[in-house]
Amino acid sequence: ESQLNPNYNFENFVEGDSNRLARSAGMAVANKPGGTSFNPLLIYGGVGLGKTHLAHAIGVDIKDKYPDKTVLYISSEKFTQQFIDSVKSNTRNDFIHFYQMIDVLIIDDVQFLSGKAGTQDVFFHIFNHLHQNGKQVILTSDKAPVDMQDIEQRLLSRFKWGLSAELQLPDYETRVSILQNKLFRDGVEMSDEIVEYIAKNIKSNVRELEGVIISMIAQASFNRKEFSLELAKQIVDKFVKNTKKEVSIDYIQKVVSKYFDMDVVTLQSKTRKRHIVQARQLAMYFAKRMTKTSLASIGAQIGQRDHATVLHACKTVDNLTETDKQFRKYVEDLTKKLTF
Ligand code: ADP
Ligand code: MG
Repeated sequence: ESQLNPNYNFENFVEGDSNRLARSAGMAVANKPGGTSFNPLLIYGGVGLGKTHLAHAIGVDIKDKYPDKTVLYISSEKFTQQFIDSVKSNTRNDFIHFYQMIDVLIIDDVQFLSGKAGTQDVFFHIFNHLHQNGKQVILTSDKAPVDMQDIEQRLLSRFKWGLSAELQLPDYETRVSILQNKLFRDGVEMSDEIVEYIAKNIKSNVRELEGVIISMIAQASFNRKEFSLELAKQIVDKFVKNTKKEVSIDYIQKVVSKYFDMDVVTLQSKTRKRHIVQARQLAMYFAKRMTKTSLASIGAQIGQRDHATVLHACKTVDNLTETDKQFRKYVEDLTKKLTF
């Protein structure tokens, strides 16, 4: 099971100034996995700029050209979890062996390895083995290696061995192309005036551009209306406002769950898995800090918990922020995301 998503491919990854280097490096790697100096290939950039899409596209293309090669895509969160499980069940060697057998290893969002010494250590050994054997490693991260924190020096230096290619914010022309491409693929027609209006006003990232189109389609079909500039203005307004502020508990849950690469349903679930419990406690903590909602109401909205649970969550977060470096990083990152 490669875990690759065939919907993320090169054909539908629109080229522009903002991504040209990363895209062409990705294609070079896909043509000759392990056989270029781009090893590892590290793709970095902010949220919603196409890191995951490009990482899959490379893997999908390799699978196409080299069906016999084993390609594996995995998020660093999942990788970490698998490693922890392997230690618990005394199968650490099997875990290492499994990863050392892979021809092309794609690890998404390596910034989440920060502060996780055990996982970094095991990844270091896997990386060395793969690299020595001419296997390809592809990594993504939300920042460049020089800006990564709490990642061991020896691992950082490996990250810099190959090529680090940035995905930047798309410029206006690229935003127009991305919108047109998306509309074409969805079989939707929209006037140039509307497309240009959206491209002019949504500058944050590609995910938001897509979000506007999705809302437009939903609104227009729900109200059986034509696409109008008026509708575009309403929707763009909402997107711009939402990113600027007005934090709701819904929004907090979305941001927190996305940060930990899980969905809101998982965050709210009854599970006692540590990383999910922590995500839930963080959501409660931020709801307490950033809204005027009562503890009881916060609990009700975050998975039907009572006010004592929320109070306990807030205390736990305060304590962990004091004592746990990694955890403090979570709080800092999330604070930034929720208040930018
Ligand atoms: P990241 O992993 O950097 O947060 P994603 O890869 O999840 O971003 O991209 C967010 C969305 O934007 C996805 O739906 C992706 O398909 C789309 N996207 C990003 N860049 C491009 C591009 N250059 N062309 C087409 N779609 C893109
Ligand atoms: Mg991603």
